[in-house]
Amino acid sequence: DDKAGASYMMDNDMYEATHPDDISRIANEAFRFATQGGKYEVIYRTQTDNRNSYKIVHAVGEHVYTEDGVRLAYVWYTDEGAYLAEENAHHTSLNSSLRNALHKESIINANHYDFLTGLPSMSYFFELAEEGRKTLLENGGAYAILYMDLCGMKYYNRTHGFAEGDKLLRSFANLLKKYFSNENCSRFGVDHFCVFTSDSGLEATLNKIFREFRDMKGIRTLPVRAGICVSTNDERDISTECDRAKYACDTMRNNYISNYRYFSSAMLAKAEATQYIIDHIDRAIEEKWIQVYYQPIIRAANGKVCDEEALARWIDPTRGMLSPRDFIPVLEESKLIYKLDLYIAEQIIENIREQEEQGLYVTSKSINLSRADFEACDIVEEIRRRVDDAGVSRDKLNIEITESSVAENIDFMKAQIERFQSLGFNVWMDDFGSGYSSLDMLHIISFDLIKFDMHFMREFDNSDKSRVILTKLIKMCIALGIDTVCEGVETKEQSDFLREIGCTKLQGYYFARPMSIAEILSRYKNGSQIGFENPLEKDYYSDIGKINLYDLAVVSNDSKDDLAHYFNTLPMAIIEAGEESFALLRCNNTFRTFMEKMFDCVPTGELVRYDKEGVTFGSAFVSALRECASTGNKAVIDEQTADGSIIHAILKRISVNPVNNEKAIALAILAVIHN
Ligand code: C2E
Ligand code: MG
Ligand code: MG
Repeated sequence: DDKAGASYMMDNDMYEATHPDDISRIANEAFRFATQGGKYEVIYRTQTDNRNSYKIVHAVGEHVYTEDGVRLAYVWYTDEGAYLAEENAHHTSLNSSLRNALHKESIINANHYDFLTGLPSMSYFFELAEEGRKTLLENGGAYAILYMDLCGMKYYNRTHGFAEGDKLLRSFANLLKKYFSNENCSRFGVDHFCVFTSDSGLEATLNKIFREFRDMKGIRTLPVRAGICVSTNDERDISTECDRAKYACDTMRNNYISNYRYFSSAMLAKAEATQYIIDHIDRAIEEKWIQVYYQPIIRAANGKVCDEEALARWIDPTRGMLSPRDFIPVLEESKLIYKLDLYIAEQIIENIREQEEQGLYVTSKSINLSRADFEACDIVEEIRRRVDDAGVSRDKLNIEITESSVAENIDFMKAQIERFQSLGFNVWMDDFGSGYSSLDMLHIISFDLIKFDMHFMREFDNSDKSRVILTKLIKMCIALGIDTVCEGVETKEQSDFLREIGCTKLQGYYFARPMSIAEILSRYKNGSQIGFENPLEKDYYSDIGKINLYDLAVVSNDSKDDLAHYFNTLPMAIIEAGEESFALLRCNNTFRTFMEKMFDCVPTGELVRYDKEGVTFGSAFVSALRECASTGNKAVIDEQTADGSIIHAILKRISVNPVNNEKAIALAILAVIHN
């Protein structure tokens, strides 16, 4: 719980049998784990039961969250077998002058070797490589630092067990020793290795290593990624060069074949840009280089702005406008994103309060949260506190979480999402359809809204198939009672299609780009702002949006009549009935065809007065509509048309607008009996 308590335990009982050289390392790791989270992993020596030798223990821990969000720690201990003190053997191979150059004390006290692989520790490796490069450079040569990473080690440990995983790491270490010698190699992290070597013949050696590792007998192996940093001078620290090699290595993160890549000047520029972000995030927040832009989200049922998405913009005094693509991934990776996101949350809350004070309609605003926010702090509590302190209603904040950040640790994220929801926040799934686990996730987590990834719109123009998929997915959301947003709507055609298939909200450049507060205000002034929805009407329009007028006929062209036939539904429409007039709000394509065939009329959203002469539907319809609107009772209509056919239809009141008392009524045509 507290540091003193934890170290007391470690000093006094729990680690009583631990090798004295390892205790401080364990205590540090335990403290880090308790205060910062992440994974707990230490390998250490502990006395065997008879107390006359040591065995190796591999401890791995994780935090789990109970349903009500309480954090528990689990630690697994694996006995890795006897520890063989090999240090002396290694020391004999040490260059004797180098050995003398090193502090005697540090040799005795420091942890020089990784006892899993027998390779030098990181700091010792830096010292050795520093000496090594002097010799190489004096002789006019160049040297290289390799940073290597086994692809998929986490998964390997999970499927084959840690004992097998450790065996794999030892085998790889042995291969490195064979080609580069023990003292030129090091293990940096679980499955990360560094090598110092002269640069001649490097590629051939790497290819040999890749091949030998792949073909190793008696063990299943993994592909290897290697980053290479070549240098001809000693201006930089070895550790910086290791970083560069790692950088090159990490650019291949998504490769699952053995491969190598050189660190380049382009990477250097990118690394520099990355470093700039990390170094300046605090200042960027303090000096308001970071601003919140808002992009309106339009409700399909009324064409008004019903929500706004907050998007971060970094307007740098020297580098100009940075897009989220430039800084979000960097901040995520460096675990600093929570600073930005908490700041954005504060800005949103301030904007909401300002709007409230000015008596404007306040739409809900959505904030994007990253996976790392949940690791860095209790983001649920941090946001709740800020919202409550400001006296802002919790339902004014929508939390957007991407599909991929949920997929990584679904149980944990489910618990966090449910905490948000039980506090009264809406949680939206962002970028749905961009990953692989989409449908499964909907089954496990109840989102309030699903936001379809932009790629659906990018493929929209290319294929009928993507329209069918989108239609089906939206239909599924309607059936589950979940709202939907499609992002990246850029054309009228896309917008019409989405309204047709029942997507409830739309977002994209077709309506508006993300805008600064100043721009939003100036649009207000010159009247070019899209109208904001009155929050009191929110439920009314949400009810209208959730009615399924689903009709796939729109996606099938004439040549595929069978499809059209298969998917066709009843003609259905939603009508808004006022005191003196009514209007069509939404309808499906079958309804449109029906109106054209029966009445030779193309339905529009125009207002129609009840007392107007020659209303396309006759008097039975009008009186049933008014009756249904005022009583809320279902009404059945038998309307006779001019040619003597009878139309059977049904009307049902869906919702009442509390602001203007208009009623939304669903109309379905059940049958037409011809004479
Ligand atoms: P996102 O949450 O999916 O946001 C939608 C992105 O699509 C925004 O890009 C928006 O400007 C862009 N967009 C909107 N309509 C259209 C359109 O019609 N066509 C095209 N081509 N693009 C459109 P942006 O602002 O560059 O943000 C990119 C991503 O960065 C966001 O994707 C979000 O994941 C992340 N992000 C942005 N702000 C924040 C933040 O404050 N915190 C966190 N954690 N992530 C953020
Ligand atoms: Mg988003
Ligand atoms: Mg998105």
